[in-house]
Amino acid sequence: MIQGGFLNVLMAIESNESRKMNQLAEIDNQDMKVDYLLDFAVIGAGIAGLTAANRFNQQGGKVAVFEKARGTGGRMSSKRVVSPSRDEHDHFMAFDLGSISITAKSEGFAAELDELHQLGIIAPWFKDTNNSIHYVGMPRNSGLTRYLSKDLECHFSTRVTAIENLEGVWHLFTLENNTKKLLAKAKHVILATPPAQAYDLLPYETPLKAKLDTVEVDPQWVMGLEVENLLSDLESIHYPQSDIIHSISQESFKPGRDRHNQVLGNEILTIDASTHSRADVQGSIVLQVQATASWTNNHLELSGDEVSVLLIKELECILKQILTVKNSYSHRWLYSRISQGILTQEGYLWDDKGLALIGDYLSSEFIGIESAWFSGKQLADWLTLSLSTPHA
Ligand SMILES: Cc1cc2nc3c(=O)[nH]c(=O)nc-3n(C[C@H](O)[C@H](O)[C@H](O)COP(=O)(O)OP(=O)(O)OC[C@H]3O[C@@H](n4cnc5c(N)ncnc54)[C@H](O)[C@@H]3O)c2cc1C
Repeated sequence: MIQGGFLNVLMAIESNESRKMNQLAEIDNQDMKVDYLLDFAVIGAGIAGLTAANRFNQQGGKVAVFEKARGTGGRMSSKRVVSPSRDEHDHFMAFDLGSISITAKSEGFAAELDELHQLGIIAPWFKDTNNSIHYVGMPRNSGLTRYLSKDLECHFSTRVTAIENLEGVWHLFTLENNTKKLLAKAKHVILATPPAQAYDLLPYETPLKAKLDTVEVDPQWVMGLEVENLLSDLESIHYPQSDIIHSISQESFKPGRDRHNQVLGNEILTIDASTHSRADVQGSIVLQVQATASWTNNHLELSGDEVSVLLIKELECILKQILTVKNSYSHRWLYSRISQGILTQEGYLWDDKGLALIGDYLSSEFIGIESAWFSGKQLADWLTLSLSTPHA
């Protein structure tokens, strides 16, 4: 009985080994994006992933970043939309599609922002009533993540569709024409995606999956709007009393943008100012308008154009004027703000097979961009320390 049990175990191990060998033999190694063994493969080029990747890189680690979009930024990205008017085909509306501004609660992040400001990567926009400085990326918010990626090996337009640990080495795959293609092999994989996308990528057996089950993220419609005749004086970021519109941000008045939202250079237009007088304004103005989470949830399946019509109507009620619209564009963020995160002091999650989760949903102390930055920094600092300490 005991012997039979032992043999069964041996046979199971053998068949497991041959399954692994078969798996390895089946993998298409052709056209790998990275043909050497990485120390760290980072999935996601948002602020969390790029912060971690930069620190690994500075410590001499072999690191590559894989990003499904065409560029950096994730929820800090910016958008340019060409004018619909035939006479103005060279005119575009540009605005920050995700985060409006960057603020710091901790001294560490405040020092980091100050340094980025000295380098001209970000600029102060205004101080709020809590005396908190709101910074923006130059010439748009995506400028910050572009700067963070400059020394990194980044593979854009590359969606990671599976990760597998085969014989102790992490394998990253993508799907190309319905064929599973090997992208890279790595000792450690850092999932720096929103939690739902991390959940889909996690191999079945890891306990991290159960933790991700508890996370809730709101969707959000966001509209860029160019208008010719805005009359009201609004704060830089205005939060109206509305069930439909959460916030209105004055994109044209951010530093480095002019009223048509073309770049003026590193000039700071406003600081310590929270309103802008319409008397100063000639020409059109670009706004970023965010819908509330509950309204978004009830209008998830509408088209972008349908959403623009409804948001403009609500905006006209709030502003008490009929708007002359030059351009509008609405985008649906399926994963926008974290309503229920995993509250850790460390800011990251780790399993002992070399897999980590980072992002804005993992800190008990911070929210938004600061939370994502903290998460990436904390993991990189801890991991580089533990890898350089024997038996850690
Ligand atoms: C409309 C809006 C307004 C906001 N306003 C503010 C604000 O004013 N201030 C503030 O502090 N925060 C704000 N936030 C929140 C802030 O933008 C986020 O907290 C922060 O940017 C999250 O960074 P991250 O790196 O954790 O994730 P993300 O920025 O989401 O980055 C994750 C990246 O992973 C990529 N990815 C996902 N799956 C895969 C895959 N399978 N393969 C490859 N790549 C993949 C994505 O394309 C993305 O680029 C706002 C967010 C939104 C949406």
